[in-house]
Amino acid sequence: MKGIGIAYPGPRSVAYSSLAFHMLTTFLEDRRVGVKRIFLEDGWLEGDLRGGLPPLIMVSLPYELMYLDLVRMLDQLRIPVYRDKRREDDPIIIAGGPAVTANPSPVLPLVDAVLVGEAEPVLEGLADTLDIQGRDRILDELAGMPGMLVPGRSRLPVERVYVRDLDKAWYPIRQETPPGVEPVWGRSFMLETTRGCARGCRFCMEGSIFRPKRDRSLRVLKDLLEAGVKASKVGKVSFYSLAFFDSPHGQGILEYAVSMGLETSVPSIRAETLTPERARLIAEGGQRTITIAPETGSCRIAKAIHKPICTGGTMEAIDNAIEGGIRNVKLYIIVGIPGEEDEDLEETIQMIREAASKLRGRGMLKVSINPFIPKPVTAMQWIGLEELGALKAKIARVKKEARRVGAQVSSYDPRYAIAQTVLSRGDEEVARLVVEWARLGGRLGAMKTAAKRTGIDLSRYTGTMDPDKVPRWHELVSHPYSSLKALKREYELYINIIGGRGLRIKA
Ligand code: SF4
Repeated sequence: MKGIGIAYPGPRSVAYSSLAFHMLTTFLEDRRVGVKRIFLEDGWLEGDLRGGLPPLIMVSLPYELMYLDLVRMLDQLRIPVYRDKRREDDPIIIAGGPAVTANPSPVLPLVDAVLVGEAEPVLEGLADTLDIQGRDRILDELAGMPGMLVPGRSRLPVERVYVRDLDKAWYPIRQETPPGVEPVWGRSFMLETTRGCARGCRFCMEGSIFRPKRDRSLRVLKDLLEAGVKASKVGKVSFYSLAFFDSPHGQGILEYAVSMGLETSVPSIRAETLTPERARLIAEGGQRTITIAPETGSCRIAKAIHKPICTGGTMEAIDNAIEGGIRNVKLYIIVGIPGEEDEDLEETIQMIREAASKLRGRGMLKVSINPFIPKPVTAMQWIGLEELGALKAKIARVKKEARRVGAQVSSYDPRYAIAQTVLSRGDEEVARLVVEWARLGGRLGAMKTAAKRTGIDLSRYTGTMDPDKVPRWHELVSHPYSSLKALKREYELYINIIGGRGLRIKA
């Protein structure tokens, strides 16, 4: 069967909420390439499975924990899970997405190629490979494409590929969702205003791997919006960007969408960019909750992570939100940032108290508490994860205090932080852990059993790394604007600010 498989190792509702999924499927279908959509619903394979497998399957891996689902998917498709065991007529598996762009190592033994970076510049070439016969020749062709890491064939490091001019980039105008599937944020047209972020927060992987920041012009945004809601037959637009009002046209396109009578949804906002006027527009678009990510209430830690929004800035944003008619505010908090001491955590709790008191009687404060997870290609990539007991205690403390002031609280299980750290900073060895763990059912509790069976020491990946050693992911991929040298400089600035205070990390 000719064509390309687009696999999303997760449920349809999540796949159809992904702009990348719409981009891949629509781009290929518009060029009359047959597309087979493959999903994993509750761990079970579903989708277009009749008539044999296509010669190429692209697998979207935006998050590290999806590596387990990749294994489940391959097992159920009866494709040998290790690349070196595949036969001539097995499909070629190409992985892509933020997680593998930052660090492809843990999936390299499992896939035939990794697309590092953005899809648009290679999609055309990918469709052309369908005319080539033979696994070897296709892999050679892939190895010659920009941003394509083909183990054993590509020259390392592969340079991350990205779109130079978003205005000229192809865009999925038609974003159709099949009947019976409800995307996570409802049916809407997803409009990406900006790609990348220029803020340079030292912990942020997305900010780092999508550099440089690129904005669509207001003219193009308006054209896409008009055509998109019509072609997708929806009355809502969901804006896509890392820091929405950092786009010079964020306010303009929001105004335009509201003037068209559309329902609007705006992603996370930098606190200092929210004015009462912008809040009013968001409220007019029907959104009741805005999300701000101050990460910490400690000014010292905020400066160390290079996100210097102190409590004053967050409170001003909440005032502006209330003045504009927004009812609810969600705050993203990170605990366990290395260098964080008791007094820093107390300042975070104090910030939550102040936020709750501002919103009392007007709306709801929501607090999302997350452990700090060191991510590859960031200035904090060498720093270890805080010890599990300490993380649990910190989360419990913030949770208790936030609930005491009436906030609605959600938190991320720190045991998942261990799993995420291992997968995000792992090397090729970790692939064996992933396979074993997935075959044990993939539950959190099975991770330790899998580690034991494979002889993999998890602390090798969760501890502090020697900053003078080059991490494996930098040997594989070079990131324009996020070079190892630049990240190291930022790391040193971070260490200088915290001055070793509060560092309780096991090496
Ligand atoms: S945390 Fe937000 S503002 Fe900071 S670099 Fe990442 S996306 Fe940009």
